[in-house]
Amino acid sequence: MHILNTVEEVRAWRGDGNLGFVPTMGALHEGHASLIRASAADNERTVVSIFVNPTQFGPNEDLDKYPRTLDADFKLCEAAGADAVFTPDRAMIYRPGFCTWVEVEGLGDRLCGASRPGHFRGVTTVVSKLFNIVRPTRAYFGQKDAQQALILKRMTADLNLPIKLVICPIIREPDGLAMSSRNRYLSEDERKRAVGLSKALGEVQKLFESGTRTAGVLHGQLVTVLDDYADKLDYAEVVSAETLEPVLEVNGPTLVAAAAFFGSTRLIDNVILGLRA
Ligand code: AMP
Repeated sequence: MHILNTVEEVRAWRGDGNLGFVPTMGALHEGHASLIRASAADNERTVVSIFVNPTQFGPNEDLDKYPRTLDADFKLCEAAGADAVFTPDRAMIYRPGFCTWVEVEGLGDRLCGASRPGHFRGVTTVVSKLFNIVRPTRAYFGQKDAQQALILKRMTADLNLPIKLVICPIIREPDGLAMSSRNRYLSEDERKRAVGLSKALGEVQKLFESGTRTAGVLHGQLVTVLDDYADKLDYAEVVSAETLEPVLEVNGPTLVAAAAFFGSTRLIDNVILGLRA
């Protein structure tokens, strides 16, 4: 497996042919591995980027303590079928004088965007830059970050980028907790309670499957269960899976998404209802 540190090294390695791309911030786990495996199955070669992108973190967020586990990450990438890993440093991605941003209007203001102003502008900007550097055929993202996936699809369509986005299912721990690099911040007690996020979404799904279509009732159940487990609710929403606008009734693909704090760790999870309706 090749370790590529500079834009020039990526360009020299790229060549022609189908290339799958998996952008990450490192501290890799089985969720990331599933994206790499999906890419390796679809493409001649796969490159993973590991870059903790400063512009998607707010001033009081965990940029400085974000976990860095580079050696273990390389092993995971290789085992999952990556051909190369790109690990640029900050100064290379954001050169002096950098002042160009890519922003998807509207979609980035709600849910996670409401509590993390500027977050999605950082994501769309860095992903655009990485797309230009890597020039992938396909790029792989997780449904775990449902809003991010939607925004990146919008960006790719709006900018006519010749890249197919593939959105992969959420990989979970045996008890249901969605895998996340941030799970390692949790104390033993917080880890036990963090299962409440997927439990609450599971309860909402059950209600939906037993015939409930009123968003207010589904939302009520989500909040009630979350209140039992989380230290603080950031948001709980029942919205259109296409526009992220709140819905009154579930009669099309509907995203139920929540973010909650366990101690000082903020975790997110979601489920989509109504795909088979
Ligand atoms: P991150 O390193 O957290 O920025 O995530 C990199 C990519 O991995 C994003 O597309 C995430 O949506 C995806 N990802 C993170 N956790 C999971 C998970 N539990 N299941 C599937 N994909 C995930």
